[in-house]
Amino acid sequence: MLKNNLIESKHFTTHQLAEGVYACIHKPGGAAYSNAGIIDLGDSTLLVDSFYALVAGRDLRHTAEALFNRPVETIILTHAHSDHWVGASVFDANTTLLANKTVREVCLQWGEGMMEDFKNPAGWETWINEMEQQLQTEQDERVRVSLENTITRARYTLAEMGEFQPRYADQTFEDVVNFQGIARNAELRSLGRGHSEDDAVLLLSEDRIAFIGDIGFFDSQPFFGFCDIDLYREQLLFFQESEFQVLVPGHGPVGDENDIALQLRYFDVMEDLVSEVAQRGGSFEEALQVALPEPFDKWLVGGMERFGVNVRYLFAHYGGEVPEEE
Ligand SMILES: [Zn+2]
Repeated sequence: MLKNNLIESKHFTTHQLAEGVYACIHKPGGAAYSNAGIIDLGDSTLLVDSFYALVAGRDLRHTAEALFNRPVETIILTHAHSDHWVGASVFDANTTLLANKTVREVCLQWGEGMMEDFKNPAGWETWINEMEQQLQTEQDERVRVSLENTITRARYTLAEMGEFQPRYADQTFEDVVNFQGIARNAELRSLGRGHSEDDAVLLLSEDRIAFIGDIGFFDSQPFFGFCDIDLYREQLLFFQESEFQVLVPGHGPVGDENDIALQLRYFDVMEDLVSEVAQRGGSFEEALQVALPEPFDKWLVGGMERFGVNVRYLFAHYGGEVPEEE
């Protein structure tokens, strides 16, 4: 069970997976928007990722410090998508941020783009107002939930864009980093390109626990934007028949190899549906209308943007012509 000194966060729930190993899972309505991990190596604390917003990053920092009564020594980044690293800015210089070399380069690009975008809070206000107006007349429940989620998320960003300063990795690695603690060892391993430009995982072999970043989207719509679908599939296969019994995904609840199998099935179903439209010369609009079978249809609730991105990626991948993005 959780230790008593664990703070309650509105942004995530904390689950103990083993003595000294915790998964912090995004809570609906909160500002985490991704999952993180807290690992006690015995003589130091390691974090995996750091959430989408500063406000959630602060709770993560407090939780980790309260659990083991010391500052966090290292945060490892699984990949460069900003929903996993914005929160790292709330940690001070005693905490080292460690990422793959490629990931650091991509973070620099994303960070620059975000800083440019955040110079225009008025534009964000207008966008939020437009979504709120659309919400008053929108009838499609799936679109309504999507809009509500996007509004909440945009409001979190708007509230802190004035104070945000991106924090980039202080140290980089290429293939593997081994952590040796007095309580346990951990292996940080890059699985190369797949979900993103480079995806790293944290493997706790003795505990049979793996933090797999966005290689895992459990019980929720995966995200193909920026991916290479074939390499992404290989990353999933790495965990399909592995020694790791507990898998902490980047999004969704803690799971296991059954969740990997289901996610692989989603890849197959989506590829079949969208490639069929592209290869018979159908339009992108038609591709967007493909109906996902059970249980994937339920993943659409609140996930229409990711679905749209995935159809766009696959449609182009199979030779279809996609319209310019807005
Ligand atoms: Zn993510």
